[in-house]
Amino acid sequence: MGKPKENFIDPYFERRLKLMNRLKDELNLSERVYRAMLKVPRHLFVPSNYRDDAYADTPLPIGKDQTISAPHMVAIMCELLDLKEGLKVLEVGTGRGYHAAVVAELIGEKGKVITVERIEELARKAREVLEFLGYSNIRVVVGDGSKGFQEEAPYDRIFVTASAPDVPKPLIDQLKPGGKMVLPIGHFMQNLVIVEKDEMEGIKKKPWGAVRFVPLVGEYGF
Ligand code: SAM
Repeated sequence: MGKPKENFIDPYFERRLKLMNRLKDELNLSERVYRAMLKVPRHLFVPSNYRDDAYADTPLPIGKDQTISAPHMVAIMCELLDLKEGLKVLEVGTGRGYHAAVVAELIGEKGKVITVERIEELARKAREVLEFLGYSNIRVVVGDGSKGFQEEAPYDRIFVTASAPDVPKPLIDQLKPGGKMVLPIGHFMQNLVIVEKDEMEGIKKKPWGAVRFVPLVGEYGF
């Protein structure tokens, strides 16, 4: 879990508190997700010229034509994933690592987040800030996450932060029976989909609603 270094002063705490209090009311957030997001300093996961915008509920550019997801989207995906202490979670699409940090708070020190990013520079920046904040339960991997990450499989939960043409087959295979996956599907019209894997009946897909993400690029992407 994040252990800010000594003398680490957070000048943005009041802004984060205001945003999270608003999201808590609007989305009826659980106390766990509220507290996890209150702890993670989103302003450290955006380029320095966007720091002052970090607590507006909006996506922001993070370089390389990619974005950090809007806080409400991170909150909604965390709620849908039903994240408990000790779970092993795969994220596809690290960006600069913000969503991974929130998930790491929710699964605690006994859990583990494996997050895959295809753009090396973003993965490097994510590693830097996650290390600075003391997250020892997150592994950042560079690669094509549309194929999952077999080395650490199976996973209790999987989430994808870029929109796929359909549920990538390797992600279904790498999800534990009883596990859950949340991912956006579609190109121009995208839907957030909840996938549940059952040992006997295979997978069940449930649409959540319309969303807007960057495309998943790769073997099982666009
Ligand atoms: N998770 C991020 C956050 O904390 O806000 C948001 C990431 S951004 C919306 C989506 C990311 O997915 C981009 O950084 C993009 O490079 C990455 N991406 C797209 N296709 C990918 C693939 N096949 N494997 C890994 N990462 C991919």
